[in-house]
Amino acid sequence: MKQLLLASNNRGKLAELQAMFAPLGVHLISQAELNIPEADEPFHTFIENALAKARHASRLSGLPAVADDAGLCVEAFGGEPGVQTAFYATRFGYPKGDDNNVRALLEQMVDVTDRRAALVSTLVAVRRAEDPEPLVAVGRVSGEITREPRGTNGFGFDPVMFIPRFGQTFAELPVDVKNANSHRGLAARQMLALMQERWFA
Ligand code: IMP
Repeated sequence: MKQLLLASNNRGKLAELQAMFAPLGVHLISQAELNIPEADEPFHTFIENALAKARHASRLSGLPAVADDAGLCVEAFGGEPGVQTAFYATRFGYPKGDDNNVRALLEQMVDVTDRRAALVSTLVAVRRAEDPEPLVAVGRVSGEITREPRGTNGFGFDPVMFIPRFGQTFAELPVDVKNANSHRGLAARQMLALMQERWFA
């Protein structure tokens, strides 16, 4: 069993990525298990933040690390909140958290008719902190923001992320269906192929 550190304390991401990496014989350890503090994410793009998180986790653990920087890009807001997604609710005076993020988004979109948005996941993996060849995989899924939350699966914006081809939100879909079709699922499949070719061949 190969060990890989996941540079995140987000339990939703950990559960999804563990299921996705298991077929490759890769066990993901959460950085929280090793008491590794979260890295700063000062950059404007997902890829820069994911790289910073992976390098930080690898440096402090001595293990290969993978990071997922993800977020919601709303068409009517010019792609915002993007890399600031996790903190979206705090812009409007609510404490940080998934439920408050959803509430703030629905409030901000109450008069918005263009409901198009994308969930984006950027995965970056490094064998060591100074790895000159990080592996990079990007997944993106387009959908529409509903007018109210629907469904109880998943996490984050899943209850308001309606996927037209399924006619349901991510939170209404069975977990394995979300994982097979989500932004993170798409990125993870690319990442597994890259790891197989470049790290485990
Ligand atoms: P970060 O990548 O940990 O900074 O988190 C990004 C933000 O996007 C958090 O608010 C998450 O709840 C949200 N998010 C990340 N992945 C998903 C997902 O798969 N579905 C819904 N929301 C997500």
